[in-house]
Amino acid sequence: MLLRIEDLDVSYRNDEGEVTAAARNVNLTLERGEVLGIVGESGSGKSTVSLSVARLLPSPPAFYPKGKIFLDDEEILSMPLPRLRELRGKKIGVIFQDPMDSLSPLHRIGDQLVETVLLHEKVSKQAARDMALEWLGKVRGNSTMDPVTWAKAYPHELSGGMQQRVMIAMGLMLGPDLVIADEPTTALDVTVQAQVLKLMKDLHQANSGVLLITHDLGVVSQMATKLAVMKNGRVIETSDDPAAFFAHPTHPYSQSLVGEAKKMELE
Ligand code: ADP
Ligand code: MG
Repeated sequence: MLLRIEDLDVSYRNDEGEVTAAARNVNLTLERGEVLGIVGESGSGKSTVSLSVARLLPSPPAFYPKGKIFLDDEEILSMPLPRLRELRGKKIGVIFQDPMDSLSPLHRIGDQLVETVLLHEKVSKQAARDMALEWLGKVRGNSTMDPVTWAKAYPHELSGGMQQRVMIAMGLMLGPDLVIADEPTTALDVTVQAQVLKLMKDLHQANSGVLLITHDLGVVSQMATKLAVMKNGRVIETSDDPAAFFAHPTHPYSQSLVGEAKKMELE
């Protein structure tokens, strides 16, 4: 089993000491080759759960009252920081909603990709540069930007779609076993969304597992091999058969989600 989340609780404590339980009793598993879609309305705890997997929540305010997260049988929440740093990037690739949160505004795209490689792989700077250009070529899609020009650009010089393609390259280039994508296309306009999704589908390795977080059921129906619905911090329904789920959601809340999505399709 690639990923096993066991009985996980995640809470936030504010400056006044008040505690919000953002995730409760979450149990999820992911095998290599699977894409687990986590859906639910804003604030339902999707990001809290998925970012916990890479221990990326700022702590404080986040803390873990109970539960365990195993990545190939290594427990993440109790792992020493140096080991965790090794895993991030190399074994766990992360793609966020807003690339500007993750890209440095001060460095050229190419240099940032090279840095990512050099941090994790014992290769020459030239080999890292080659790899960066190769990946920009892969994520370019039907854009006319050539990789050499793209590599020289600073993030603010690029469109949101081109920034997000860089994030995808950064998240996937080291061949992670687990890819965490938190609303990877939400900030993009609809045509770019479709291109970026296709790219993720094409590029993620068949033997990796993907945790795909989205409030968009359309994205889940295109990408996921299984899904979990979250509401108020709890997983209220899971399905190993997305097509069956969309035809017959069980939980009343899932039924309303699916109903709304179908209504929007018709509009
Ligand atoms: P989602 O990704 O599904 O929109 P989140 O995981 O971001 O939901 O949020 C789940 C709950 O945790 C929400 O009630 C949110 O307000 C709360 N929350 C998220 N981040 C913090 C934080 N840094 N401090 C306090 N509460 C937070
Ligand atoms: Mg979120």
